[in-house]
Parts: sequence; structure tokens; C-alpha cells
Amino acid sequence: MKTGEYTLPGFRHDWAAMNLSLFASAFHQQHGAELAQHGLAFAPTANPFASLFPDGKWLGVSSDAALTTARIRGFSDTDAAAWTQLTESFPADAEAILGVLGSPMSLRALGTLVGKTWWRRGTAGSLDLARFLTMSSRAWLDQTFESDHVKATLAAWGMHLDFAPDIAGGAVFPYLEGMAGQAFGMVLGQGGADTITSAMVAMIEARGGSVQCGTSVSSIEQVAGRAIGITLSDGTVVRAEKAVIANLSPRGLMKLTGGTGDPRHERAMKTFQHAPGTMMIHLAMDSLPNWPAAELKRFAYVHLAPSMDQMARTYAQAMAGQLPEEPVIVCGQPTVVDPSRAPAGKHVLWLQVRMAPGQIKGMQRAPLMPETGRMPQNPLRNAHWISWSVTHPAPVKTSSENTWLPRICSRRTIPTSWGAIRSVAAIICTSIS
Ligand SMILES: Cc1cc2nc3c(=O)[nH]c(=O)nc-3n(C[C@H](O)[C@H](O)[C@H](O)COP(=O)(O)OP(=O)(O)OC[C@H]3O[C@@H](n4cnc5c(N)ncnc54)[C@H](O)[C@@H]3O)c2cc1C
Repeated sequence: MKTGEYTLPGFRHDWAAMNLSLFASAFHQQHGAELAQHGLAFAPTANPFASLFPDGKWLGVSSDAALTTARIRGFSDTDAAAWTQLTESFPADAEAILGVLGSPMSLRALGTLVGKTWWRRGTAGSLDLARFLTMSSRAWLDQTFESDHVKATLAAWGMHLDFAPDIAGGAVFPYLEGMAGQAFGMVLGQGGADTITSAMVAMIEARGGSVQCGTSVSSIEQVAGRAIGITLSDGTVVRAEKAVIANLSPRGLMKLTGGTGDPRHERAMKTFQHAPGTMMIHLAMDSLPNWPAAELKRFAYVHLAPSMDQMARTYAQAMAGQLPEEPVIVCGQPTVVDPSRAPAGKHVLWLQVRMAPGQIKGMQRAPLMPETGRMPQNPLRNAHWISWSVTHPAPVKTSSENTWLPRICSRRTIPTSWGAIRSVAAIICTSIS
């Protein structure tokens, strides 16, 4: 989680995380006032997300429930009624769902939770909850709504967490983001997502601690199965008074600890499988994209994820190492919510391209077709970008031997069609050798 001027001076881009709504945590409840003293500040929005479709229609979720429901009614009366029902039962359902998600994974804690849930919801209600928690987003959405636009708008949230429409357990996040987006909106960091890290570092330092970056840890020291400190790559040993917190991938943690001696645990750590990668494109803009509806200029995220079938296909292709035929794009417009991130009148765009294989074994289609877009009203036409930067799991090659990147760069505009959005991803992925 960091923010930087990755394109031009004065244009601040969130490197990855942009939506800080999940920071509304127990930690924040306890330390929010102190963090605020050290500069933590949020930029809230009542218009968290929308989806734009190839037929030019769009659907957005805003924190005005009547407005959101009316937009859904524009697609289906039945779906508007289903949405109203979900809205009404959200407080009780969210408590049960968040209870499960936030529970420690110990038998005792889970036992208490099951007892509490059964007491409150009864046998049928508890079984319904268990069923929902294991459902794919497609199963839940097909059973709840009839409009493909409504389904795709919500299913796009599953793609943020690598839950493509047919993956079990994927219904929860689209449901929570849809309902919580309407109930609470979304918060971004004022000035950038790094407001969190800057405030936490300042808080640690004010309490006498220190934060050292740019130093690699070579091992985590253990005595009798307990972590007691770390050794830095220069040999310095740092003792832990209470605990070592290491936010690493399972394999990285295995490397640093040398294992725990528990074969079952070690096998699980070694065989952990990552989902496909993502690619970030950061753009410094003269103006916002020319969305077909002016309202879309008010949303923090605009998803370009036309259908559940497309999302499922994109995910499956990326998992197979294929450069997807068409990406799912999360178009973040942070300057709509927080204009301080760019010079007056200018903008930054945060394009998250889902999914990109970490290692490309092939591609589904010839990559450059900017003139063959499917979208009648091209959302990004004439939206002038000034500069860009790309982050991908594999190193991106931008040398002159790559013919595609200079061609796109010379256009001085965001590529002009739905097909071209796909092409940007494809072109940049293709340039990875
Ligand atoms: C593209 C993208 C978009 C995202 N968007 C959102 C969002 O909008 N909202 C949200 O809530 N979350 C989002 N996330 C998820 C969020 O970014 C992560 O959950 C969060 O960054 C995890 O923080 P962390 O400190 O646990 O781990 P990390 O941010 O991964 O930090 C771990 C650090 O450990 C360092 N490290 C690793 N090995 C060593 C070593 N041996 N020695 C020293 N240092 C080491 C790494 O360099 C890294 O800096 C997004 C993630 C991605 C990739």
C-alpha cells in the first residue's frame, strides 16, 4: 500500500490499494483518534461504484438507497424488489456474515460462533447462511436477480478478490460490496492511500519505536517453536519482545522460518497456489474519460466487466497462462473524490486490469485492434492522457524493439474503444518477454 508520483510531478497515484473502506476495523476504532493526530484523513464518497456495458447502459450503486433502487428498477422491477429485500435484511445478515469472516480459526471460537448463529437464526437460517457462504457469485446472482446487467455489476466485485463467477465462496464479496457500498459509500485516503502508512509510522515513532525500510530480513529466529526475533541480511539480530509479524506469502514465510516441523502445515505452505496476477496502469490525465453518461464521472470505480460469462472466461484464460481475450477493468477515478491528488483541473486514473497471467504461455487473440471496438459510445475517446506507468507481476519491457507501445503512446489519447481498452492490456502484456 503506497502512493507516489509515478507519472508526473503533482499527480499522486495509489500503487495498488485505493479503497480504504476495510480500514474501518477494530484497530481503527481503538486508535483512530491517535492516527488522526498523526495525519490520517479520509476522503469519503457517496458514489462508490458503477458498471458500464457495451450497449451503452450503466448501473451505479450510490449511498442513496432510493436512487440505487430506481436505477435497478430501470433494468427490472423484480430485481428492484429483490434489492429492497436485501437492503432491509442487510444489518442482520451482515452481522452474521462478518461474524464468520472475523472469527479466529480456533475450534473454540468457531464453536461459539456456530452456537450463537443457531440461537439467533435457528436451524434453517443457519443452514441458509452456510449455503450462502459456500456459493459461487453466479449461483447466488442467478437465484436472486434476473437482469444480466445487475448480475454483472455485482459479480465484478468478485474479480477484485479472484473470485470469478463460478468459484465456490465467491458470493460473499459481491453481496457485501453491493450492500455496504449503498449503506456506507466508500472511503479513499485524503491525498493518497499512504495516509494510513504515514500515520501509522508517525504513531510508532511518537511512541518511541522506529521503522526501517529497504532492509531485507534473511531469517526469523525461533526457540521451541516460538519466534523470538529476526536476522537482517547484514547479520544484525533484532530481538522481539512480544511477537514477530511477517506479512509474507506462505512460501516466503517458509523461507524465512525454515519451517515449523509440522509436516501438514509445511505441505500446505509449500503447495499454496496464487491466483492469476493483476496489472496496474496509472495515467495522468488532462480530463476524465468521456463516459457516455455524465453521472459516471462521479463514481470512484467504474467497472468494465460486461457479463459473468466474460469474467469467467477471462479468469479461466489467465489461470491457463493465456493472455485473456478481454480483460476486466476496474477504472478508479480517485481525483473525483479527492481532487488534491492532481494539479487543478487535472486527474489521475487508476486502471486495474484483471486478470493477467504471471507467466504468459500464449494469447487468445491478436492483440491490437483499436479500430474494432464493440462499444458504440467509446468511454475513453478523446480523454487525453499525459503520462502513464505500468506495474505487472513480470517485468514490463518498454524498449523501442517493442512496436506496440510507441504506437499507442504517440496517439496522445486513451485508446478510443472498448476493444482498445482490451488492447492496452493486451499490448502491454504482450510486451512482456
Ligand atoms: C492491485 C491491487 C489493488 C488492491 N486494492 C485494494 C483496495 O482497494 N483496498 C484494499 O483494502 N486492499 C487492496 N489490495 C490489497 C492490499 O494491497 C493488501 O491487502 C495489503 O497491501 C497487504 O498489506 P501487507 O502489509 O500485509 O502486505 P504487503 O503490502 O504485501 O507488504 C509486505 C512487505 O514485506 C516486504 N518483504 C517481503 N519479504 C521481505 C523480506 N525478506 N525482508 C524485508 N521485507 C520483506 C515486501 O517488500 C512488502 O513491502 C490491493 C492489492 C493489489 C495488488
